[in-house]
Amino acid sequence: MINLILFGPPGSGKGTQAAKLVDRYQLLHISTGDLFRYEIGNSTPLGLEAKSYMDRGMLVPDSVTIGMLRNKVEANLEVPGYIFDGFPRTIPQYIALDELMEEKGHSISKLLMLDVPDDEIVVRVLERGKTSGRPDDSNEALIRKRIEVFNEETTPVFDHYALSGRSVRIVGVGDKAEIFGRLCAEIDNL
Ligand code: AMP
Repeated sequence: MINLILFGPPGSGKGTQAAKLVDRYQLLHISTGDLFRYEIGNSTPLGLEAKSYMDRGMLVPDSVTIGMLRNKVEANLEVPGYIFDGFPRTIPQYIALDELMEEKGHSISKLLMLDVPDDEIVVRVLERGKTSGRPDDSNEALIRKRIEVFNEETTPVFDHYALSGRSVRIVGVGDKAEIFGRLCAEIDNL
């Protein structure tokens, strides 16, 4: 079983590359951001709670996020593997994912980090905001806040997987097909 974490700041291309990876490796793509937006679209209590954090560029509390992620995995146990996108974003989430994987007899194969400079991210996310309709994509201050949250709360997750040699940095700028090729080279190496 191949279980990947697609890692990187907002706008680093995780969603785009995840779709291509799903095609090639038939893994289940789980994006916590997408799951939250689905809940928001259905005006569920979970969605309403998540929205209040997302609109401020803050992370949704771990208890909510971890529970939602666990439900999604539990509902999809018969898959060849998972691509986790946007999760884990904190150390408690990292611990929860480790426990969940162990409980199911699996483990995380690799964390692939898409490296993109901050200024490029701002340009990309503002561009995405023109069509995504996401309130958190259309305000530069909010995008910079999300980058700051990533640097402060989420990068320690990279360091944890690095301790066991599972974190890899991928150049996330340039041609999308080339970036995909870099990701595949790492996966095919497993
Ligand atoms: P994304 O689509 O991954 O950029 O996520 C959009 C927003 O959803 C983030 O800015 C957070 O507010 C929230 N979110 C997504 N995933 C997580 C997570 N793993 N932990 C906490 N909040 C999250």
